[in-house]
Amino acid sequence: PAQLMAGKRGLILGLANDKSIAWGIAKALHAHGAELAFTYQGEALLKRVKPLAESLGSDFVLPCDVTDENSMDEVFAAIQEKWGTFDFMVHAVAFSDKEELKGKYLATTRDNFLRTMDISCYSLTALSQRAAPLMNEGGSIVTLTYYGAERVMPHYNVMGVAKAALEASVRYLAVDMGNQGVRVNAISAGPIKTLAASGIGDFRYILKWNELNAPLKRNVTIDEVGGSALYLLSDLGAGVSGEVHHVDCGYHTVGMVGIDAAEE
Ligand code: NAD
Repeated sequence: PAQLMAGKRGLILGLANDKSIAWGIAKALHAHGAELAFTYQGEALLKRVKPLAESLGSDFVLPCDVTDENSMDEVFAAIQEKWGTFDFMVHAVAFSDKEELKGKYLATTRDNFLRTMDISCYSLTALSQRAAPLMNEGGSIVTLTYYGAERVMPHYNVMGVAKAALEASVRYLAVDMGNQGVRVNAISAGPIKTLAASGIGDFRYILKWNELNAPLKRNVTIDEVGGSALYLLSDLGAGVSGEVHHVDCGYHTVGMVGIDAAEE
């Protein structure tokens, strides 16, 4: 099979376990010959991330908390030392207090607003700043977003506001990094049952709603998100930058499902 990522090296942030979207992406990249580095947040996750990385032939596993400048500095110092330069970065990191991922957006506190923005939005910029000097021409960055950035989804609340800012960041970063030949894009994934998603109120209802109303009448898998990330991170996506690409079984295109379709 064609090895779309042969000779390419990249960093994946946001792997927590084998349900993570980052895992679907890592598998697709590995299958196409990419060399991978991973970060984990906190010692508790190391015991999950290390064996997953090893199963994809990687022993390059680094701690990283995106709220900590030093911790981010150390990640890129390690990359510079081991690889010199690199080709791609996957940002699959988000956090909000789950007490505010239920009920009303109206109730959002300043503390959680700022923390959610910091971890889920600013981190892409902070990491891109550090990545830029090390990235090869033809490089590519992908982040993960959700339709709650564009339209109101139940309980998504402050995370929707952070994702809207994240999508705007993608466009600004695409311009700022474009002159060095680096592309920046987002994948807007449909709902998937992961650790992060389990913090969102009534998540099972969101999954069911999507399944019933998406054109494909089902939910996406992490492997499907992986396939789309492979396209954006490889040279297949060479002409694409600043884009928010929906991988959601078509859900975002639907205004209303007709009576016939609903009863099918
Ligand atoms: P996940 O729980 O597997 O991954 C979230 C990751 O964020 C974890 O690895 C966690 O360690 C990391 N993280 C949180 N705070 C951090 C910090 N301070 N420093 C470093 N890392 C930190 O869940 P996931 O659903 O795979 O989430 C990955 C991305 O996909 C997130 O941006 C999420 O918003 C996005 N997304 C998820 C869905 C979905 O339905 N699951 C849909 C669209 C977009």
